[in-house]
Formats: sequence, C-alpha cells, structure tokens
Amino acid sequence: MHSPPIVGLLGGGQLGRMLMESANRLNIRMNVLDTENAPAKQISAHDGHVTGSFKDRASLRKLAETCDILTAEIEHVDTYGLEEVSSKVKVEPSWKAIRIIQDKFHQKEYLSKFNIPMAEYRELHKNSAEELKAIGEELGFPLMLKSKTQAYDGRGNYSVKSQADIPAALEALNGRPLYAEKWAHFKMELAVMVVKTKDGVLSYPTVETVQENSICKLVYAPARNISDTINRKAQELARNAVAAFEGKGVFGVEMFLLEDDSLLLCELASRIHNSGHYTIEACALSQFDTHLRAILDLPIPPQSLEIREPAIMLNILGGSAPDSHLKIAERALSIPNASIHLYSKGDARPGRKMGHVTVTASTIQEAEAIIQPLIDFVDGTQR
Ligand code: ATP
Ligand code: MG
Ligand code: MG
Repeated sequence: MHSPPIVGLLGGGQLGRMLMESANRLNIRMNVLDTENAPAKQISAHDGHVTGSFKDRASLRKLAETCDILTAEIEHVDTYGLEEVSSKVKVEPSWKAIRIIQDKFHQKEYLSKFNIPMAEYRELHKNSAEELKAIGEELGFPLMLKSKTQAYDGRGNYSVKSQADIPAALEALNGRPLYAEKWAHFKMELAVMVVKTKDGVLSYPTVETVQENSICKLVYAPARNISDTINRKAQELARNAVAAFEGKGVFGVEMFLLEDDSLLLCELASRIHNSGHYTIEACALSQFDTHLRAILDLPIPPQSLEIREPAIMLNILGGSAPDSHLKIAERALSIPNASIHLYSKGDARPGRKMGHVTVTASTIQEAEAIIQPLIDFVDGTQR
C-alpha cells in the first residue's frame, strides 16, 4: 500500500462520488474527468482533476497522462479513445468489454454465444412501422422497444402494448438505433453485483429490485421470499455472464425471475451500479471498495461480500418541485437506522437520481416496517 497507483475516473456523478469515498479511505488518489463541480470532485480537493467530457477524446488523453490506471463510472464513454490510450495506461475493465456492453443489442448478441438465457429479441433495420408490426406478430404484444445505445433509467425503452402503440413508440425513439424484446412476464426483478478480479469472479448475494417507470425505486437485500436455489442460480448466471468479458472491476447484472422460477438476464453494466448501493451499509466491503481493490489487484476476502444485516435501499428522485428530493431527505433524518446519501448534483429534474437512503435491521421484515413511512411519504410527494 506504499504510494498506490493513481486512478483516473471517467465520469464524476454519484457513482464516482461514492467511489471517491472509498478511495479516500485507502489514501488512493483518483483524478476525475467531468465538469468542474461534478459530485465526485466536490469531495476530493486536489489539482489532478480534468475538466471536460468523458465522451471527448482530447480530455480523455489528458486524463490518461495523469494516471496509471483508468476506470469508468458510466458505460457511455469513448471506447476508441480508451483503446488508443490503453498502450500507455491500464484500462479496467477492458475497453473491449465496455464497447460491447454499451450497445445493448451488441451485448445480447455477444452473450447469446455464451448460452446466457435472455428474452428473445429482434433487430430493427429500418425503424419502420411495418417492420415493428412484423416483429410484434412474431414475438407477441406487449413487447419492449429499446434503443441499442445511450440507454439509462428506461430513457430508451418504450413498452408497445399493442399494434396501436407502434407509431407513438417509433416517434418517441425516433432517430435511435433500435431492437425489440419479447415481454418478460416476471414475478420479480433480481440483481447481482459481480466482482471480476485477476484471480476469478466473485459475487454479492442476490437482491430484489423494484422499478417504477423503468427507474429503480427500491432494492431489498437479500431478495424477499426466494429460495437458496434461486439465490445461488442467479449468482451463477451473473458470474457466468460477467466471466464472458475481459478486464477487472465490478459489474452490475440485472435479471428477471419468471413465474416458473427460471431466470433471464435483462442487461449488465460494466460498472458499479445502483442496485449495489446497499453494500455500503450491509457488507464489510462495499461495491465501491471492491471495485477499487479489483482494479488495483488488492485482496478481497470473499466473506466480506456477504450481507451482515438485511437492508432496503430507497432512491431519492427529483420530483414535481425543485426541492421535492430535499423534503424526502429531511423526512429520512428521523427514520431509525437510515443512512442518507445526497449526491449534490445541482438541479433536480423529475425522475433524476438525487440521493438514496438505506435502512438496515436484523430482519428484512423489520427493515420494511422501518422504511414504510418514508415510502408512503415519497409516494405522496412524487405523485
Ligand atoms: P438502467 O437504468 O438499468 O440502465 P435501461 O434504461 O438500460 O436501465 P433496462 O434495464 O433494459 O433499461 O429496462 C428497464 C426496466 O424496464 C427493467 O428493469 C424492467 O422493469 C423493464 N423491462 C425491460 N425489458 C423488459 C422486458 N423485455 N419485459 C418486461 N419488462 C422489461
Ligand atoms: Mg441499462
Ligand atoms: Mg437496467
């Protein structure tokens, strides 16, 4: 641990900020490429940061000059730039992994070669109504129309309930490269955080995620009412999917649990992930700790990934008023066992992730009872 390598981070949003919290505790210097006052920079005072966009080649080159190893808090980065600088600095995970993963269609094509179960999907070549109608006849309605690229928080998804929705769907995703996915009639959504190290692939336990309007709202860790078998199978599926990619670091894997208890992969992210925030309070090593350790080849005792105490995480989203999210945080101050994280992102837009709250308790039922008043408050304010 004598003068550890300097890490360069593409993107300084909330994920970068929480990564910085971990880096700070281990005296790891992290230089961030993002706008001047990005959340991650606000908690790290030094002159090594780079002002610019993580999509801009010149800024990326500049960041690469300042560090020994590059990593990213977001998959929508310039992977050709990363490929270029990879002759001079390490890039973890590999730019190859990020390039495949950032295009959700490419990701599916790649993963299908590794026998990862996924909902059936079809590429659109012309983005025409006739084409989507034919796909609908084949896959059935409803189906999910998805943008291949630049997708996050459901901005890039359109649920096409019947043929009548086709024009509106194509209009909403106009100009974007598209594919369509067969509807997954899931009884629950699950997620597993996976850590890829120089030695192998580790996983955190299986958690349950609840999405509202395609945005993650709640995470229950561990997932409620699933058997040990499903917990194990979901972790196995997640590890197998991540093992298919090159490089080290944390990957977030989202899955659907169907009525017959089979699992389908929804998508994976080549980075620390919203569904892993619970690890900060619930596990000895958080996803941010293990990401840094994985890319720097530091030890990760597997027991440190276990859940010490059940946890529920609630996202604090921007609401109808500019300060809706602050009212939620204020209310959370009085909730017992609640850890509040505010991201200091500036203006709140409806649905923008502004912070989160994690409640831990000795059982998940107890945690549910403790957090329920806050959920009721959120459901009241954000309507
Ligand atoms: P993220 O913010 O996680 O990156 P995203 O914009 O990439 O999200 P997805 O993860 O593909 O979008 O989908 C978001 C949500 O939409 C899923 O969590 C799920 O609730 C719903 N969804 C996606 N695909 C399907 C499907 N094939 N069938 C049913 N629901 C789906
Ligand atoms: Mg996504
Ligand atoms: Mg997703």
